[in-house]
Amino acid sequence: MQDADTLKEYRKQCQQAMDDEFLRQAMDSFAKAYRSNRVKAFSGMNEKELIAEIAAAKDAAIVRLPELYEEFRVKAERAGVHVHLARTAAEANEIICLIAKEHGCRRIVKSKSMTAEETMLNHRLEADGLTVTETDLGEWIIQLRHEGPSHMVMPAIHLSRYQVAELFTDVTRKQQDSDIEKLVKVARRELRAKYIEADMGISGANFAVVETGGIGIVTNEGNARLVTTLPRVHVALCGVDKLTPTLHDALRIIKALPRNATGQAITSYVTWITGANACAAGPQGKKEYHIVFLDNGRLALARDPDFRQILRCVRCGACANVCPVYRLVGGHRMGHIYIGAIGLLLTYFFHGRDKAKNLIQNCINCGACKEVCAAGIDLPGLIKKVHARIQNEEGHPLPSVLLAKVMSNRKLFHTLLKTARWGQKPVKDGSTGYLRHLPMIFGREQNFRALPVVADQAFRDEWPAIRPQVDQPRYRVALFSGCVQDFVYPEQLKAGVKVMSGHGVAMEYPMGQSCCGLPLVMMGESKAARDVAEQNVKAMDPARCDYIVTLCASCASHLKHAYPKMLAGDPSLAEAARAFAAKIIDFSSFVSEVLGVDRNDFRPQAGQAGTAYHSPCHLCRGLGVTEAPRRLLREAGLNYVPSAEEDVCCGFGGTFSMKFPEESRELLKKKLDNVAASGAGELVTDCPGCVMQLRGGAEMRGDALRVRHIAEALAERKK
Ligand code: SF4
Ligand code: SF4
Repeated sequence: MQDADTLKEYRKQCQQAMDDEFLRQAMDSFAKAYRSNRVKAFSGMNEKELIAEIAAAKDAAIVRLPELYEEFRVKAERAGVHVHLARTAAEANEIICLIAKEHGCRRIVKSKSMTAEETMLNHRLEADGLTVTETDLGEWIIQLRHEGPSHMVMPAIHLSRYQVAELFTDVTRKQQDSDIEKLVKVARRELRAKYIEADMGISGANFAVVETGGIGIVTNEGNARLVTTLPRVHVALCGVDKLTPTLHDALRIIKALPRNATGQAITSYVTWITGANACAAGPQGKKEYHIVFLDNGRLALARDPDFRQILRCVRCGACANVCPVYRLVGGHRMGHIYIGAIGLLLTYFFHGRDKAKNLIQNCINCGACKEVCAAGIDLPGLIKKVHARIQNEEGHPLPSVLLAKVMSNRKLFHTLLKTARWGQKPVKDGSTGYLRHLPMIFGREQNFRALPVVADQAFRDEWPAIRPQVDQPRYRVALFSGCVQDFVYPEQLKAGVKVMSGHGVAMEYPMGQSCCGLPLVMMGESKAARDVAEQNVKAMDPARCDYIVTLCASCASHLKHAYPKMLAGDPSLAEAARAFAAKIIDFSSFVSEVLGVDRNDFRPQAGQAGTAYHSPCHLCRGLGVTEAPRRLLREAGLNYVPSAEEDVCCGFGGTFSMKFPEESRELLKKKLDNVAASGAGELVTDCPGCVMQLRGGAEMRGDALRVRHIAEALAERKK
């Protein structure tokens, strides 16, 4: 399938992928099995410490790549290896073609190499009349189908055994059984002959170890051993980012790689090759051995402090394995060559803006990739930065410019929201609290969830009347509402105030606060997002409170993590932004851990229907809060019923759900199906955005499910 030129075409391609029933099922079963296998594989290990060590070692190497290359070259050449550095993909292909020509090679066997996919090496070799056979089973399958890989570790994950049996029947001209063992045997039989005939073997490399001058290859099938030993010429193609100072550094990565890639404790084969080995068919009884290092933008990336952490990637593929979007659309739609979260980034840096401009927007910012990344890369943060960079390079789309103008002017933004109260009258359904018809700007594809009306009175307008009076407070709290709760769901804030009342909490609601700015970041409007951050830090004045409490998980995570970074470059604001971020706390943690609210605060009630919980992405992964809300549900006497995949995104993602409604709809469906399967009659969560998505979705489906913010569920039972 061709790369899409426009976002509309790209969405169409994603929809086609979502319509592929087999793909959906394969992705779903893999995603579910992977989650539990990964947990088992890391059990008993300090996973976070290991990841931090890998990240630190990679960072130290990235800034020394030119030096490491020179050291490696000298060592490897001493051991009889020819070392090349290709500046571009075309240059790498040219070098390999020349090696083949000089040594009279006609038949080539290859083991799996994403770097060779990046340079499109096979096309170039075939154009020179060479015969290339992929020997990794998955790669062979996709080569026969003339496709690219749909996963970095499992390239043919999108295909069923029946499709493979059909393919093998065509190739062997003999009817093949769809039994997997039998299919593997067919491949083995067909491929063995190719190894024997081949003049040249091409491999990738997971490591180029500087202290030994050798390479390391991690595989599961053993084909790389045959590729690198049987033919008389061996060429290893690897990115310069694979330069690893010591064997110890490489072994540390190997501890994480198979666990993260496929949930295996160890991989089947690790092959170390140092120097040109003995080879009866080679010149002077030695293997003709070349290593081609590929730059293709990597050395420039290593000099870019904003993005160099991308080069930490060890290509485990875990960022795809856990990505809810990848799970829906598969690898061919989630990256140009490299796939998953890292694929969105590498597409921009290795293949250019045109290939990346649509893909980069297909991230819901759920943070699942960041949580599992073997190299601790801030993938969602970098994806947003690349999106903003592309917009700065290409020009900002009109809706995004307008949104930025409105949102960075608090008074204008709030006036428009208040005016919407009147504007919505013709489409407002007074009895349900939803818009009866969606305004034209939303389009029909948004019809998968009912949208709420703007509240009659904003929270900020009610605040003077409801503000609790507290003598001798234990805590001074500033409430940060975010715009959804302020203008659409003020009842959630009022419930929060009720739950916190009676615990010696003096609350303020600073009127100068505005939207947290996350929607602007999601739209690639980094300048406006920064301006809004400045307004909020000034308005909230962290010196005047002990805590800044917010009932919106997305706001909390954005205020805490993004503000200090966004304002770090301004000496007059950097300190205030850090103080502000340090005081941010989510509602559940504040109520449970600071106030120590427990069962004594609630009225006992018998015979409760089950209550399911949806764990918002920005709470469980953004802030690492998992226990506090569940503890509160139990303390309040709610009959908490666990449901499957509680921490998987509900599909809201703010502006994502407007841009990719088809994907948002599917994620919502999965979530509501899981809740329905739990038998719960109520669903609570900690984020107004999730409430909007889940409540509106349940309404459209006609589910008898009550969806509420956790503050509302607690307030109802408060004594
Ligand atoms: S943040 Fe979520 S949606 Fe975005 S790439 Fe990572 S896992 Fe996928
Ligand atoms: S970005 Fe992280 S999770 Fe993704 S492939 Fe690279 S190391 Fe693995």
